[in-house]
Amino acid sequence: MDAKFDHNETKVAVIGAGIVGLMTALEVQRTGRHVVVIDPGEPGGRQAASYGSAGWISTSAIMPVSVPGLWREVIGFLMDKSGPFVIRWAYLPRLLPWLLRFVWAGRNWKRVEEGARVRFELCRHTAIDHKNVAAEAGVSHLIEQKGQLYIYRDRSEYLAASVAWKMRRRFGIKFTELDDIDLHELEPNISERYHFGVRLDEGCHCTDVKAYCEAIAELIRKRGGEFIQTRATGFEILDGRLRAVKIANASVECAQAVVTAGIGSKELAAAAGDHVPLESERGYHVVIADGGNTVTHPIMPADGKMGITPTRQGLRVAGQVELAGVKAAPDWRRAEILRRFAPSVFQASFASYKVIDQWMGHRPCTPDDLPCIGPAGFCAGLFYGFGHGHAGLAQAPATAKLLAALVAGQEPQCDVSAMSVLRF
Ligand SMILES: Cc1cc2nc3c(=O)[nH]c(=O)nc-3n(C[C@H](O)[C@H](O)[C@H](O)COP(=O)(O)OP(=O)(O)OC[C@H]3O[C@@H](n4cnc5c(N)ncnc54)[C@H](O)[C@@H]3O)c2cc1C
Repeated sequence: MDAKFDHNETKVAVIGAGIVGLMTALEVQRTGRHVVVIDPGEPGGRQAASYGSAGWISTSAIMPVSVPGLWREVIGFLMDKSGPFVIRWAYLPRLLPWLLRFVWAGRNWKRVEEGARVRFELCRHTAIDHKNVAAEAGVSHLIEQKGQLYIYRDRSEYLAASVAWKMRRRFGIKFTELDDIDLHELEPNISERYHFGVRLDEGCHCTDVKAYCEAIAELIRKRGGEFIQTRATGFEILDGRLRAVKIANASVECAQAVVTAGIGSKELAAAAGDHVPLESERGYHVVIADGGNTVTHPIMPADGKMGITPTRQGLRVAGQVELAGVKAAPDWRRAEILRRFAPSVFQASFASYKVIDQWMGHRPCTPDDLPCIGPAGFCAGLFYGFGHGHAGLAQAPATAKLLAALVAGQEPQCDVSAMSVLRF
């Protein structure tokens, strides 16, 4: 370990090197602390949800998955294997307590709007924050600000989703409605069966999340941060205070640590006495080598419920929610659903392009779709930053700033009480 930083009180262990952990390490470093990032995998590597995300950096990621009326669809999720949301029968008994809370969290629009207000604080500055971090890390070219495009077969399909759009408008999120002509002028390769679009004007997308994470990790290293490639297994806690993070056959002594381990945070929080209902909403992606010729905007077809993003490798088609636990093997039929749907979004030539990659990973999801950000319940010096569900890339910079303030003993930039781990 670096001799300059042998004072344990200035050392902060950050557990997990996905986008949330890396951003957090960077922000904690700015407060003059020495950071040690612990992860068995590479920063933003294939093991991380961050790796496989659609790369959307949405200033508008305010809506939860669970909204009023969802409970009516749950039976369908068990029976229909071809839709965007599926529950495995064998996992249902273990899932049930989480599922009930999940459905309950979206029981009325008033509750949804309360949650949206908290999520808005986490995503409203995300575009500028990511652009700043990318510039610092020397990879500005990986963040593009072209907006994000939701496409509909007709205006009535758009109007059916008007509650969400009206809520976005109330929050001041800027978007532009596009009629048939405007839509196809903007993206000529979109299929003619789409006649209406909405562009979220301020949204960005990342064209290579792995390379972005690597660049942030490199910046942390350059500024004196350390990376230890191993798994954290628990904590040494004395008189209610953190003493060390346990790793295989050793420990990293520190008075402060942050758990940003995505789905792996559930076990770590439990080791500190906090039992969090964190569930994996498993997601998939396929990458289609399109030569970069298909679209310039990230696209969300309303009838497909998937994010289609132009990336450096090809067109990434990401989506699906599969509730089957962390341990079950991937069901590649879910990726096949994405692959089969994608050609119908574009003009005919797209169908001939080749799939060059497929991936499955774990969105770390709480039932109320709000992350846990704040101090641990029973261990002074330990903090949490996990449970970002479908919007961790968007919410990472704000999460990181909140955690850096909390670790430094300063007032966080917004009220974090709704995200306390003790709400469960
Ligand atoms: C298909 C799909 C599409 C998505 N699209 C988007 C999108 O477009 N925009 C968006 O904002 N979000 C999106 N998301 C959600 C987003 O990917 C996640 O919310 C986000 O990546 C979570 O980041 P994280 O850093 O918390 O977790 P991860 O990225 O999962 O990182 C956690 C890290 O912790 C490590 N770890 C776990 N356990 C331990 C341990 N015991 N010790 C040490 N390290 C440990 C893991 O190895 C991993 O590297 C998508 C997710 C999926 C699956």
